[in-house]
Amino acid sequence: MSAATITWIAFASAVGASVLIAIARALATPRAVPRSEPLPESALDEAAGVEDALAALVRRPTVSYYDQSAEDAAAFSALKKDLERLFPKVHGAMNREDIGDRGMLFTWKGRDEKLRSAIMCAHFDVVPAEDASLWKHGPFSGDIAEGAVWGRGAQDIKPMLVSSLHAAERLIAEGYRPERTIYFAFGGDEEIGGTRGARRIGEALASRKIHASFLLDEGGPIADGMLSFADRPLALVGVAEKGYMDVAVETTGAGGHASMPPAKTATGNLSRAIVAIESAPPKARLGRTVRSFLDRLSPYSPFAMRVLFRNAWLFGSLIKAVFGSSAATNAMVRTTYAPTMLQGSAKENVLADKAIAIVNVRILPGADSAGVLARMAKLVKPYGATVSLAHPDALVEPLPESPVDHEGYRAIEAALAGSFPEAAAVPFLFNAGTDTKNYRLVADAMYRLTPLLQSSAQLEGVHGRDERVEVANLRRCEIFYKRLLGNL
Ligand SMILES: [Zn+2]
Repeated sequence: MSAATITWIAFASAVGASVLIAIARALATPRAVPRSEPLPESALDEAAGVEDALAALVRRPTVSYYDQSAEDAAAFSALKKDLERLFPKVHGAMNREDIGDRGMLFTWKGRDEKLRSAIMCAHFDVVPAEDASLWKHGPFSGDIAEGAVWGRGAQDIKPMLVSSLHAAERLIAEGYRPERTIYFAFGGDEEIGGTRGARRIGEALASRKIHASFLLDEGGPIADGMLSFADRPLALVGVAEKGYMDVAVETTGAGGHASMPPAKTATGNLSRAIVAIESAPPKARLGRTVRSFLDRLSPYSPFAMRVLFRNAWLFGSLIKAVFGSSAATNAMVRTTYAPTMLQGSAKENVLADKAIAIVNVRILPGADSAGVLARMAKLVKPYGATVSLAHPDALVEPLPESPVDHEGYRAIEAALAGSFPEAAAVPFLFNAGTDTKNYRLVADAMYRLTPLLQSSAQLEGVHGRDERVEVANLRRCEIFYKRLLGNL
């Protein structure tokens, strides 16, 4: 036998063995339990009234602005007063503190001081509502119509605040007191960075040496039909969060009149630098979160997908290629560079002596801002461009990946089973920023889930027009919290 034949046979057996192992692993995937029916409408009565409480809070135009003078301070104080009226038992059983002007912290003392606490987060500010006249119901009307509560904040994210307190109010009425201490941490400026709200609360908890077992903050939806092949809605529990940074790319030139330009101008060089950055995306990587996403997703996927998902060790390159083919999944496997702003000369007939672009970067867990800057500097060097961190205040390094094998994750799964039994929880890499970053020192594990069933169409209301939440959906969200808090 020639050496070539032996090599070929060895190669063929390796491929054959790999395929057999891959199929075996797919076959060995735990069988998904049959999809359960959603809670019947009649079961939702227990949460009745939560829609009225949400409507009351939506009527407060708690819009946060970088320019504080544009804010309606009276609306923020009125919302805090509303809470006292709506949740008297919560205010009787818990200690409530105002932390700074935009932070609210409720402490529900547990029976066992030795158990590690849990933190329920939400924010009570909202983004502005443009085109108010085009809304079907006014953005601050809080109308309850067509089976939904309408208005800015009806999805993002007053339902979490109101549902958690409404559920606690019911539990207290039943004589319940949690085993472990539960904090309710509400910020009033999440939409503009959280520096006056969540950051202050995080600092206060840290100064008290509080280290919670886990926290739950807004995050992925219970996605209905977003992954078309999955056989049920998927609760996308964000277990990690990408980092955020703005990079300034800069070139310089001689300036002067545009009638006698040099061969290469600052503006031209900047353009070449941007093209270089866009043409060299960072390598795709299947991090821990994406691997456990695939693993947990496989029981709800068709067999061919299961073979793929359960064998990232073998099909890594294929999976990366598939993920890389759409913007949404691409963002899960690599650090992304998005050139967003450009500035050259201020006048048509004047050469720029300086040209600047901003590249918005979302950093994959495992990478960091220093690495991004070093890589980008190399890419743009041939064009005489330099890079620097544009807004140091806005920099967020990627947040650590929280484990799926954790009491907090299991508690969330159990609460989902009691409120959205038709859905399954899967760990997820969250792409947007939340208040969570402010609690990284005070919570062991951080989970980001918005416990509302949402289709892609429904998600358009978030920061968009006609934001609303169906009453039945909201009541299920409240029941989610009742199950979660009732088991802590
Ligand atoms: Zn939000």
